Parts: sequence; C-alpha cells; structure tokens
Amino acid sequence: MVAKKVLDTVAGLRARIEQYNYEYYVLDAPTVPDAEYDRLMSELMRLENRHPELITEDSPTQRVGAQPLSAFSEVEHKVPMLSLANAFEEAEMQAFDRRIRDALGVDEVEYLAETKLDGLAVSLRYEQGKLVSAATRGDGRTGEDVTRNVRTIDCVPLKLYQRGFPSILEVRGEVYMTRTGFRQLNAVQSEKEGKTFANPRNAAAGSLRQLDSAITASRPLSFFAYGIGEVGGGELPATLAEVQEKLKFWGIPVSPLTRRVHGLAGCYDYYREIADRRAELDYDIDGVVFKVNRIDQQTELGFVSRAPRWAIAYKFPPEEEVTRVIDIEVQVGRTGALTPVARLETVFVGGVNVTNATLHNMDEIRRKDVRVGDTVIIRRAGDVIPEIVRVIMEKRPRGLQPFRMPDTCPVCGSEVIRQEGEAVYRCNGGLFCRAQSIQSIIHFASRRAMDIDGLGDKLVEQLVNNHLVDNVADLYDLKKEDLLQLERIGEKSAANLINALEKSKTTTLARFIYALGIREVGEATALALATHLGSLDKLRNADESTLREIPDIGPVVAAHIVSFFHETHNQEVIDRLIARGVHWTDHKPAVTESGKLAGKSFVLTGSLSSMARDEARDRLQALGAKVTGSVSSRTDYVIAGAEPGSKLDKAEKLGVTVIGEDEFLKMIA
Ligand code: NAD
Repeated sequence: MVAKKVLDTVAGLRARIEQYNYEYYVLDAPTVPDAEYDRLMSELMRLENRHPELITEDSPTQRVGAQPLSAFSEVEHKVPMLSLANAFEEAEMQAFDRRIRDALGVDEVEYLAETKLDGLAVSLRYEQGKLVSAATRGDGRTGEDVTRNVRTIDCVPLKLYQRGFPSILEVRGEVYMTRTGFRQLNAVQSEKEGKTFANPRNAAAGSLRQLDSAITASRPLSFFAYGIGEVGGGELPATLAEVQEKLKFWGIPVSPLTRRVHGLAGCYDYYREIADRRAELDYDIDGVVFKVNRIDQQTELGFVSRAPRWAIAYKFPPEEEVTRVIDIEVQVGRTGALTPVARLETVFVGGVNVTNATLHNMDEIRRKDVRVGDTVIIRRAGDVIPEIVRVIMEKRPRGLQPFRMPDTCPVCGSEVIRQEGEAVYRCNGGLFCRAQSIQSIIHFASRRAMDIDGLGDKLVEQLVNNHLVDNVADLYDLKKEDLLQLERIGEKSAANLINALEKSKTTTLARFIYALGIREVGEATALALATHLGSLDKLRNADESTLREIPDIGPVVAAHIVSFFHETHNQEVIDRLIARGVHWTDHKPAVTESGKLAGKSFVLTGSLSSMARDEARDRLQALGAKVTGSVSSRTDYVIAGAEPGSKLDKAEKLGVTVIGEDEFLKMIA
C-alpha cells in the first residue's frame, strides 16, 4: 500500500504540471521558469519510479505536450512527434550511454550532436517536393494545422530544390525566433501597448499559432530541421548526419553547429564547446541533444511512452529561476543617478549564485510592478547582469506596498530630483555627495576647470578612499603630511601638488563655474554665464527667467542651474572654497556683445599647428564668437586645419566660407 501522503503528493504534482503545461503549450504564456517545471517533473518521475503501480496512462510523465487548440484544424501525425529524455548531470549521461551500448552490444557509439533550440517543434509535409501541410506537435499524435502560417516563414522552402527527394517527405524541426527579432518585436509590442512576450520561445510559439497568418508573416521567425517523420516513395541515407546533409541539399535549413561525435568523451567536448558559445548565438538554446547516428540502430532501440530511447537532451544550467525580493535598496552612482537594486534570496541561475538584480530606474519598477516581498522570475544569460523578468502575481502576499523612490539621497541626504522627461532620479548634492565625490573632484581638477596639475584620476581615488578628501573644498585643507601617507607619493610630488593647489586658487569665474560640474553646464555655457552675469553672487541668486535671457541657455539647463544652487549642501561647499582663498576678478559683463566677432558662428575642423582646438575655441569665444560642433547654413566660417574631416565637405556643399589657419590667426590678432 502506498502511503496517503505519497498519493497526495503525486496528485498535487500532476495537477500543477497539467496547469503549467496548459499555460506553456496552449496559451504560450508560462507562469513559472522551465527550471521550476523540470524540478516538479523530476520529482513526479522519482515517485513513479519508486511506486510503478501509481503510473497512469494520462500522467504527464507518459504524455507529450498538450491537446491542440480547437481553433485550428487537426493534423494526425502518422509517425508520432515525441519529446526527449533529459539529462541534467554527467551521471545521467553516463547511464544513457551505458544503456545504449548494452542494448546495441557495442563499445562505443557514434552520436549526432545538435544544439537544443528553444522554439517549438513542427512537422513539414512535402509531397512531390511541394509543401502541402505544416503542423505543430500538439500532444504528439495530433497537432494543429499551421500550414498558412508556416508558408510565411522566409527560410522554409515552398518547393524543394534539386532532385532525388522521396515523393512523401515529412521534415521535422524547430521554429524559433532570433534574440534580435525578439527584442525588436517586443519593442514594437510595448509601443503599441500590446502584450510583450516573456522570451523568444513564447514569442515564436505565439507568433506561429495565430489564426491570422498576416500576423505570423510580420513576425521574424526562422526554422532549423533536425529529423524526419513519414517517408514514402524514395530512400533516405543510413545515418541521421547524411539525412541532414540531404535536407540541406534540398534547400531546408539545418543548424551549422551539428556534428558527429564519438562516445561520452565526444559528447562532453561538444557540450562544453556549445556552452561556451551559447551567449554569442543569436538564438536561445537550453542544452544540446545527442542522437544515435545510425538509423538502423535507432529502429532497434525504439521508444518509451513519450521519448525515443536513442536520444537525450543534456540541459544547460537554467538561465531563469524563481526567488523572492527581500528588499529594494537605492544605490547612488558616480553621476548622482539613483539606481534601485533588488536584494534577493540567493538563487543559483546562469551558473552562479545571484543575490541581487538591478531594477534600472523607477519606470522599470512601475512597469514590472516589483515590490518588496514579491516572488519573481530572475534571468541571467551569459555574462549579462541578472535582471528581474517579471513578478509572479499569483504568489504576491496581501498588503505589499508599491516601491517609492526616497525624497533624499541615501548617501548624503541632499534632495532627490527628477527632471521632466527623464527616467532617472538624481541626487542634487553634486559637490557634496560622497557617492559622486570621485567624479566631481576629477572634473574639478581637470585642466580646463581648476587645472590642478598632478591631481590625476588615480590620486583622486586614493584621496577619497583614504578619507582624506570628501568633496572639492577638502582639497584646499590638504597638508603635505596627509599626502605622504599615500602609496607612491614622495616628498617632491607632495610638495608639487600643494603648490599646484595653491596656484589653482587664482582662476577665472568661467573656469570656476565650469569646475562645479553642474549638469549640462559645459565650458561654453560657463563662459556665457560668467560674461553675462559677471559675478558668482548673481549666478547663485539667478532665477530661471534671468538665466533664460542669456543666449544659448534653454529651459533644461536653466532648471539644472537653479536646482544646483538651491541645494544648501552645494552652497556650503562653494562658501568653503571661497573661504579657502579661491578667487577671480569678476568678469566684465556682456563682453560677447561688444567683442569683435560677436554674433559670428564658427566651426573648427582638422588640427591647427599653432594651438590646440580647445584654445582656438576659447580665443574665438573670448571675442564674442559662437563655436559649434556641426556645420549648418547658419555657420559663418569653417576653420580648416590639417586633415580636416567631413565638416569641410559639408561646408563646401552648403557654400559656407572656409578659412585656413593663417587667416584665422589674423582674425583673432
Ligand atoms: P523538451 O523541450 O525538453 O524536448 C523536446 C523538444 O525539443 C522537441 O519537441 C523539439 O521541439 C525540441 N528540440 C530542440 N532542438 C532539438 C533537436 N536538435 N532535436 C530534437 N528536438 C529538439 O520537451 P518538451 O516535452 O517539449 O517540453 C518539456 C520542456 O518544456 C520542459 O523541460 C520545460 O523546460 C519546458 N516546459 C516548461 C513549462 C513551464 O511552465 N515553464 C511547461 C511545460 C514545458
């Protein structure tokens, strides 16, 4: 007598597997990852092996797929379309190979090794070389008639090429969607606010099983053949490898990765090679398949209920798994962008243990509606960063709250802002926030900003990581002794740096504004601000409308400037800089308008022998000119140095005046 508990477990497993089969095969919308499904199936098989009296004909372990959808007409498969036995580890491969060798009485087996494409199986029937019908696998005996849809797949020939094919030939293979095609399709679908697909397999299945073949025609489907069904009125070769060669000869696509291998060692080599190349393929595969190559031996081995004895699928570690979101934390990047990260219950996926997954930004969280406490499907393919595919809504406990971005930066407490039209939330404490300090100090010290000689990227990282400097104002508190604590800093370089810091205190207002690293305030904007406003105080107090009176300052930049100075933390850092002695003589306002090149627009191309391009730009701007990066009909002059680029061609096309270096020097003299 089998214990009641086992009976209940078996019944429970069957019910769940039936449900998942329906979602996967009929609706093309699975709710759990394959790995979860495979675990349930293995568990059911284990119990049935232990208690064979429990096996029933309709147990999912004995059946293939699911009943065809009644919306299609039915096609009967004379030669059934079966599933494949699975191996997840070497021991199962060894057992498979041993069974084959024992049954055939041979020492070594020749296998045909193939990739296991993740799409859906179809059978193509050719009569006198013409495609007459195409059917899905269905439950293995009866499939759905998808002839009209398969006809729209470009790579499936409607007529076989060459000659010598049997008058009846059923070709079996997989319809699949490339990853590129899948991404494009989903992009279009989400724009139309239609349903997006969970993965390329579901997209392929959903696209093929359309009642309107015009929809199928618009979907990027492909096909690879790997076997044959019914054959009549002609002979085929004696091995599967040769059969596939013939199919290719007749114009049917066959995977280029298929290869003959010898014995288990050959199988393992193939498995490893394909596993290494998996990420670079443009289509999903979930393992490799080994098939006894000789057809007479296949016939001798025969079938069990749902799979041939002569083939096995050796599966790769799953790329999708189920886990739970323990928390959602917010990280602040070097540019101040706030990135929500999901902390997960550790899960083994894509061959590694995964404990967190990026959620990118608030739009993504809203779209996926991820909440702390949710059960989610996580995906890690190749070396790609793990991501949450979706939430399993059926498993959401009651009362979970939607995630909210914090109002203040978790690192420095400054205000968190989001500019209109942007997906990203940012910390507004650019000068003050520790998370952004390395970036902001490197920028502050750069040659075109405060020009602190000797303060390179590496040294900035050392200073910040050793807690000697938190923000740009701390630089001017550095003592020689502080620097000497650092690795690879000697007396001389320490002294040089202190001198460079001292020297940098004398600067220009434009450089200082640029050095603050306000978003979208580059050198030209900084110069425009300095020349028009004339003093830092005016800039600190300017509102958006004042700023927008300045040429080239649009609403976005104006908003960035105002919010930067609105943050008291930034103001404090600026006060400290000034208190440490950073100074300039205030700009005479509105130099540009009276400059001798005021109102003229220039573009530079090629290299000048007398000065760097940056300097040329500064000199032009100092004379009131506007320097832009691309040539248009509004450009007044293009200055062409040696080896000019395509800008010169454009200037000539538009009839813009082109001048050489000599003429330019005269102009600015
Ligand atoms: P299978 O996918 O494990 O293997 C058989 C199928 O592999 C064939 O029908 C064919 O379509 C395909 N295939 C790809 N390359 C092949 C090749 N070179 N040679 C032969 N066949 C090749 O078996 P199955 O019965 O179709 O489905 C079971 C699998 O489907 C499960 O292991 C699971 O991963 C997935 N599944 C998932 C869910 C879910 O809810 N997530 C539900 C049902 C099935």
